[in-house]
Amino acid sequence: MRVKGVVFYLESDLPSEAKFLLEDFRLAVNNSIRAGLQARVTSRNALCKIAYKEFRQYHPRMYSQHLVSAFEMAGSVLKNHRKRVRKGVTCRIPYVKRLMMKAENQAYKLDRTSGIIDLPIMAGCHVKLRLVVSQYHRKYLDDMALSLGSLTVLPDRVIVAFRKNAPQQFVPASALSLDTNERSLDGVFVEGDGAKAIKADFPEVAIIQQRHHDRRKRLQKKKANDRRISKRLCRREGAREHHRIDYRLHQVANSVLKFAEERRSAIVLEDLKGFKSKRSKELNRRLSLWPRRKLHQIIEYKAQWKGIPVVKVDPRYSSRTCPICRKIQYSRMGAKFKCVCGWHMDRHINASINLLQTAISKGMAGGLRFNPGAFQHDVMMILYEPAMAARSEPNGTSGIVGVT
Ligand SMILES: [Zn+2]
Repeated sequence: MRVKGVVFYLESDLPSEAKFLLEDFRLAVNNSIRAGLQARVTSRNALCKIAYKEFRQYHPRMYSQHLVSAFEMAGSVLKNHRKRVRKGVTCRIPYVKRLMMKAENQAYKLDRTSGIIDLPIMAGCHVKLRLVVSQYHRKYLDDMALSLGSLTVLPDRVIVAFRKNAPQQFVPASALSLDTNERSLDGVFVEGDGAKAIKADFPEVAIIQQRHHDRRKRLQKKKANDRRISKRLCRREGAREHHRIDYRLHQVANSVLKFAEERRSAIVLEDLKGFKSKRSKELNRRLSLWPRRKLHQIIEYKAQWKGIPVVKVDPRYSSRTCPICRKIQYSRMGAKFKCVCGWHMDRHINASINLLQTAISKGMAGGLRFNPGAFQHDVMMILYEPAMAARSEPNGTSGIVGVT
């Protein structure tokens, strides 16, 4: 089962009954977190047993399905807390600050034609939430192969989970092998006997990372006498950075997946798990892996939704091996890979060829073959470049507070 959350904004403000429900829900979650910590339990049923009665006394009319889902949420908060504690991370007792609630699919009704949600508050009291429905939303609402999952209500928007059975992965007719770098995906596209270089450029991600890093540094210096404020501002900077990078990564992933879907390609990626660079702290930050990991996550998740096969292979030596004579080089410096046997290639593209060959040799890419001799050295297909994005980054660093 695949699940996709779709955000809907509301046509008008949340009715006051629903606002009260959000507060009650948060209270229920926080109460059961406390009860769960005391009793050392984390499962929904156990929490229900210990916290239900007491909460019912104070909120006798709250819709019981909501209460159960509050226990569920408390349970997952507690489980994460327990995981952190076991890892030895110092952390505070968890407390949910954000106003939100989750309703399971039996606990609300969504009219998919009119886009109106009927949300029960308590016995005899329901509210109607009118959703803003765009063409994008219609795609999900009208597709009857998608069933409705849970509903998350936030003060200004709701998130509806749509579910569908995992689609059958297609049998690949071609392969798209991608080496993930700080500023681009570089790879090779193989179809029939031909092979072409392929590129998706996202230099902005590194620029945004750098800019936000500089801003945080300045904030820390400026607010050095007030750690609380400095921390808060830095956190806000971090959230902004994530949003902006996320947006670009989604665009890159979309163009890669569109291509793979049209050409019936299997996607080959390097497995970044356990990949740690032994560089200095400064370089480590600059080359921080999270955008790359995030990009993989997005690609994998969207590919699953569309039934595109994704293969992940061990990237060891991929940037230092010659795909023709399999010789491994000691150094991997320079933009070009050159081998004594005469093979030469852009370093990143060479790495992607090796990833592809690993995938093929392990039988993970269907019956596809790759012949390095058929590589068209003079062709480069561009899947994505910053000019394709609707919004682009302004040049130069701006002030500490301001632009988003
Ligand atoms: Zn060679």
